[in-house]
Amino acid sequence: SRPMDWENVLNEIDSIIQPSRGQGRVADYIPALATVDPMKFGLAVALGDGNVHTLGDADEYFSIQSISKVFTLSMVLRKVGDELWESVGREPSGSPFNSIVQLELEGGIPRNPLINAGAIVVTDHLVQQQGADATIAELIERMRTLASDSAIHVDQAVAYSESEAGSRNRALAYFLKSFGNLRSPVEETLKAYFSHCAIAMNCRQLARAALFLAFDGTDPISGIQMVSSKACRRVNAVMMTCGHYDNSGDFTYRIGLPGKSGVGGGILVVAPGNGAIAVWSPGLNEAGTSEVGSLALETLVRQTGWSVFV
Ligand code: GLU
Repeated sequence: SRPMDWENVLNEIDSIIQPSRGQGRVADYIPALATVDPMKFGLAVALGDGNVHTLGDADEYFSIQSISKVFTLSMVLRKVGDELWESVGREPSGSPFNSIVQLELEGGIPRNPLINAGAIVVTDHLVQQQGADATIAELIERMRTLASDSAIHVDQAVAYSESEAGSRNRALAYFLKSFGNLRSPVEETLKAYFSHCAIAMNCRQLARAALFLAFDGTDPISGIQMVSSKACRRVNAVMMTCGHYDNSGDFTYRIGLPGKSGVGGGILVVAPGNGAIAVWSPGLNEAGTSEVGSLALETLVRQTGWSVFV
């Protein structure tokens, strides 16, 4: 097959998104997110040969927020394995990110690991094994190694604000605890959860760090096995069905690839066998997925033919 003409692909994306820049609503539950310029747009495509193609503000840091749930899920599948599925399901929720109602109806078992309740359970397993600080340290260390960039860090001001504004997540955690589905002290688990949501990265680093998900669980550049190939398929399946809260079906309809949104405006997408894509634009739709980011991904998939349904 002919090599991809990346310059052409990126130019096409740029011309499609320009008229829509600034669309959507910037998250405002914490000041650090509310003050981000809605006109920002960055995109990075990391390929298996080590090349990274970028567009716009691809080197600017943003708060990865719930995209971190993909990395904690990978970590827990490596360390705890299939036992995880006794404490969290793998069905799309059809509910907003922070919904609590299903928890009561379903015995304290969150629908999936990518809604807040499920991600808190995932983080809790890691915290039970090694405590909050070591969990975050290991997560950051892995991200830095994969992205070959030691500048990746937790934005402590964001982590603090997450906790200050964290009544809903705190309620979810205590509710889980009341069902016996939280193993560690609530505040210890939440400390780790708020910290991984507050990781600051740019599109280039994020696409690089996620490349293992496109290549059977092993980072093709460093050769580090992050997860088994079976676990890799599981993570991608859960991203495909549950990566965008109550917008997951529409995202898959439009993009046709596993993805995960974050309320900082980032979206991480995996193109199995081809590469990983990170896009960032702060304006969100109703379900908390970047509007211009989705538009850019739709264009990228059309240009590359990377949808898994092609
Ligand atoms: N920190 C946010 C929360 O836990 C993350 C939500 C998201 O990025 O979708 O509420």
